Amino acid sequence: MTSADDAGRWAVEARGLGKRYRRRWAVRDFSVRIPAGTVCGLVGPNGAGKSTLLGLAARIVRPTEGDLRIFGSPVADSAVLAGTAFLAQDKPLFPRFTVEETLRLGRELNPRWDQEAAERIVRSGKLPLGARTGSLSGGQRSRLALALAFGKRPRLLLLDEPMADLDPLAAHEIGGLLMAEAAEQGTTVVMSSHRLADVATMCDHLVAVDGGRVRLAGGTEELLAAHRLVTGVHLTESVPAEIARHTVVEARAVGRQFTALIRPRGPVEGAWKSVEPTLEEVLLGYMRSPSAPPMLTTEARADGPQNQEDEEVAA
Ligand code: ADP
Repeated sequence: MTSADDAGRWAVEARGLGKRYRRRWAVRDFSVRIPAGTVCGLVGPNGAGKSTLLGLAARIVRPTEGDLRIFGSPVADSAVLAGTAFLAQDKPLFPRFTVEETLRLGRELNPRWDQEAAERIVRSGKLPLGARTGSLSGGQRSRLALALAFGKRPRLLLLDEPMADLDPLAAHEIGGLLMAEAAEQGTTVVMSSHRLADVATMCDHLVAVDGGRVRLAGGTEELLAAHRLVTGVHLTESVPAEIARHTVVEARAVGRQFTALIRPRGPVEGAWKSVEPTLEEVLLGYMRSPSAPPMLTTEARADGPQNQEDEEVAA
């Protein structure tokens, strides 16, 4: 159970959360905590369960089983809805409304509306107030959709692939805007993304999912520090003994060149070159190796020690 002290600490706490569509589980046995005040990336391949998870947190999808709390309150509480903004992938806007009318609608629908924040976001992108939303570019539509979302003054902002349809320049601009506004308003952001590079630059936390289950969760720095990328020359196909004693997430050999992503259980012995991997290398390693044991940092674990092989590791 969540104590009163803890209530504001965790923006999202899922315990044994599951969602089944007919016979198929889209999300299963999902337990994770996301601390308040973070920008958390939700990553995973197509069909991993990302949209379902966002929908569960936004109350668009009903859980089949388990418990989901937002800032300590059950997701079904009406107060939770008022504090949450959800931006779907297609960023629905009324195409015949102008930018100004769209903001007015936001003001009328939301009792806690922050006109100043919404206008600031629109103005900094030089959006013409009289333009119809249907005539805006992808980047401009994203900006207006974010203005609507931040105008709600949400405690939790859920974004489904916010940058998917943007060119690199617009994605960079919208990413910067998102981070600046989240910091300004103290908003916790959970965003799904295919673009690992965006996640690496924007997010200080990460939840990686596959097959509806957690593969990795925690602060990005802590997750990175728990891994090593080891390379060296190796003549047989088997994983070398010095490497096999660690938790091996992924091992590959190309010719004589051997590479492994590991969670070290102590010093790496032998003539191996060992470096801290990038976030992309870690994510790709887990996505390519569905059977590798998941890793959740202590902070990210919602239900105590999970079924994972190793605990805290000294790199
Ligand atoms: P992602 O966002 O990571 O691509 P989704 O959450 O959309 O993944 O989907 C997870 C799984 O649930 C997929 O197998 C998908 O086909 C299935 N699914 C999602 N929504 C529905 C639905 N409304 N009805 C039936 N199956 C669904």
